[in-house]
Amino acid sequence: MDLGITGRKAIVCAASKGLGKACAMSLARNGASLVINGRNAETLEDTAREIREATGADVLTVAVDITTAQGREAVLAACPEPDILVNNAGGPPPGDFREWGEGEWVAALRANMLTPIELIRATVDGMAARGFGRVVNITSSAVKAPIAELGLSNGARAGLTGFVAGTARALAATGVTINNILPGRFETDRLRSGFAAKARSQGRPESEIEAASRAQIPARRFGRPEEFGELCAYLCSVQAGYITAQNVLIDGGLVSSTM
Ligand code: NAP
Repeated sequence: MDLGITGRKAIVCAASKGLGKACAMSLARNGASLVINGRNAETLEDTAREIREATGADVLTVAVDITTAQGREAVLAACPEPDILVNNAGGPPPGDFREWGEGEWVAALRANMLTPIELIRATVDGMAARGFGRVVNITSSAVKAPIAELGLSNGARAGLTGFVAGTARALAATGVTINNILPGRFETDRLRSGFAAKARSQGRPESEIEAASRAQIPARRFGRPEEFGELCAYLCSVQAGYITAQNVLIDGGLVSSTM
């Protein structure tokens, strides 16, 4: 299917690895030109090269921390008029809420709520004026089914979700859509480091933690980042113009609910 986004300009944040990288790759395969971001310049360059070689797309890199105002400015300077914005950043650490003070909360809110909101604020009016825009926020299945030890994530992402629910509808008549994709458990460094941390804290082998985690998923496997990237590209397509303000789970059936 031709997604109708050939020549569209996309910013993909936190895209040197994992889910962000998969979104960048799928958008590039469908003809978009990219500005991708990550903090480690070397990893980011390697990813840009891989995407260029695989797709022939134009890929610019901006190695900055997207959770800072200067980082966002640099990304926007590289692509001042994006048609597509994929918001992503690292997730907050797990832990016990008793140990989180204001500093931990502010960091989580900055990464997983305020950064996407600031980027939306900077870009959607231009998209609306040009009559086309797609914003996809990478959030988490924790928005639908909270994960106790990820309280920082549950809280910060719920704030973003509430903001999107109102704002997406306010923009719905302009050709701009805003949707959230909620990953369950995907094969990325983030998933692996979570297993390693749990193995250390519980004194159990990592393989046992991983097997137990996989067994909870009705699909009996972790998600492949490419599957996530393809969903992101579809939500950025011309065909998806009537889908807005949605929270789309991609989790192999992990979250058990009727709707
Ligand atoms: P990942 O494999 O660890 O990749 C994270 C990517 O983000 C890397 O490219 C990293 O590069 C970049 N990054 C992190 N912090 C950044 C920052 N402040 N500024 C710019 N780039 C930054 O993680 P992932 O699994 O793809 O997860 C992506 C998001 O989805 C996270 O918020 C995560 O919590 C959420 N999520 C993931 C899963 C899952 O199963 N994988 C499930 C639910 C939610 P640098 O380190 O070089 O900056």
